[in-house]
Amino acid sequence: MKPPPFEYLAPRSLDEAVAALAEHGDEAKAMAGGQSLVPLLAFRLARPSVIVDLNGIGGLDGARLDGDTLEVGALTRQRDVERLPGLRERCPMIVEAIEQVGHVAIRNRGTVGGSLAHADPAAEWTALALALDAELDLVGPGGARTVPAAEFLISYFTTALGPGELLTGLRLNVPNGRSGSCFLELARRHGDFAIAGVGALVTLDGEGSVGDARVALIGVGERAVRVAAAEELLRGRRPTAELFAEAAAAVQAELDPNSDVHATADYRRHVAGVLVRRALATAVGRAGGGDRDGAA
Ligand SMILES: Cc1cc2nc3c(=O)[nH]c(=O)nc-3n(C[C@H](O)[C@H](O)[C@H](O)COP(=O)(O)OP(=O)(O)OC[C@H]3O[C@@H](n4cnc5c(N)ncnc54)[C@H](O)[C@@H]3O)c2cc1C
Repeated sequence: MKPPPFEYLAPRSLDEAVAALAEHGDEAKAMAGGQSLVPLLAFRLARPSVIVDLNGIGGLDGARLDGDTLEVGALTRQRDVERLPGLRERCPMIVEAIEQVGHVAIRNRGTVGGSLAHADPAAEWTALALALDAELDLVGPGGARTVPAAEFLISYFTTALGPGELLTGLRLNVPNGRSGSCFLELARRHGDFAIAGVGALVTLDGEGSVGDARVALIGVGERAVRVAAAEELLRGRRPTAELFAEAAAAVQAELDPNSDVHATADYRRHVAGVLVRRALATAVGRAGGGDRDGAA
């Protein structure tokens, strides 16, 4: 189907974009890469009468690693982060997650900010934002504010973005030192949204025990989740296959996934547990520690 008719606005600055969104209220929708919005228009699941195209606004794109911080402009194409020099070596989880987003053509156009603002509960970027303690910069009619990812992601396709507010960029914390990370997911076909996905990041202390751990999941609830119970259980312990299984059980106990046409709740919970074990084992191996048998 073709989209319903709409007025097309192409502001050249953030101020103009915010003003246009404020003027048209619920009738207006911002557009970044259009990879989620345009299908919604074509299926007539969204019927905005005004589209505010963000692509002509300068200064909202670009990604760079600065010390322990990955800075990403909201209009940065997902593919540009995927190809950022040195990122795979520094934090493989980020690149592995992005590689699972649709296909290259979608990542060439789809933006990081668009993915987070759209807030699909199976979007890989939502797991990265949670696992890497992202801080998101928003600007709107009331001015600018910064929101942690844990507060930004609220529920299915629902974020903390207020009326007329735009996401302008984010900063992710990418630990240095003896850290390893891994992102794994299960989807029916490559490029499909995940049935379940897991990002794991582990930092080892001087003794080779777990100093810090982060475990974030997608596809298993109304939004991406970080499982504090599993992270706490891991800290201070020797990284072994038994410990990873304990952490997986802690994750499974916390989850309350839905059944749908793609998978039952039980199956999603099972897959999540398997992926947590494997992602932790790989993350620890990449950090240069642990029980190699745990990687099986
Ligand atoms: C076939 C297909 C497969 C896909 N598979 C996956 C997948 O496996 N995993 C995955 O995560 N995604 C997947 N996607 C979605 C893709 O990642 C989109 O690019 C992304 O969800 C939206 O980014 P966008 O820049 O295209 O945003 P748009 O489609 O332009 O916008 C999406 C929504 O976000 C809002 N928005 C956009 N930018 C901003 C901003 N800066 N501030 C405030 N609001 C904003 C828009 O108003 C709109 O509501 C898939 C898409 C397609 C078409």
